[in-house]
Parts: sequence; structure tokens; C-alpha cells
Amino acid sequence: MNYKFLYTAANNYEAHFIQGLLMRESIESQLLGENLSIAIGELPTEVIQVDILVPKNKFNQSQNIISNYEKNLSLNNQDKKWKCKKCNKSNPFNFDICWNCNK
Ligand SMILES: [Zn+2]
Repeated sequence: MNYKFLYTAANNYEAHFIQGLLMRESIESQLLGENLSIAIGELPTEVIQVDILVPKNKFNQSQNIISNYEKNLSLNNQDKKWKCKKCNKSNPFNFDICWNCNK
């Protein structure tokens, strides 16, 4: 079967997550880069990007799944807040330190 490049996942974890989404639609995907990271052995797997390939005849369907995935991703990120342990203020997900007390 002919495979076509679909998406570059930021890491192994994301790649397997997307593979699961594709599987739900009965799309068999291939991951590229995953085995490489095992071969290197020294790099933590979470920093290795993984390319996801899908069968050519499922490409359009897969693209829809990816665009839904990315939409959900950005929605989730907007909602995601964390609470400061020190002052209990709510912080946006992209703040590393608390805006209120800098902890
Ligand atoms: Zn705080």
C-alpha cells in the first residue's frame, strides 16, 4: 500500500494519541522516527518528532481527523488554567510562574 505523509507529531506520546484517533476510523497509520529514537538511545523519547504516514486512499479522511484534533487542542489550551499553590490565583496555561506572586 502507498503511504502519504500526514502530520509531524511533537513527540512519541502525541504520535500514539493521533494513531489512536486514526484507528477509531479504521485507518492504519505508520510512525516514522520512533524507532530512530530508540536506536539513538540517549535522547528522551519525548523530544523526538514523529512523522505520521497514512494510506493514500485514506489521506483526505485523515486530514479531517487531524484538523479536528488541532481544533480541540487549541480549545483545550484556552480553557486550561492552573492554580497557584501559594496564593490560589488562577493562571493561564502558558504562564510558567504565577502572575500574582511570582511563585
Ligand atoms: Zn501565586
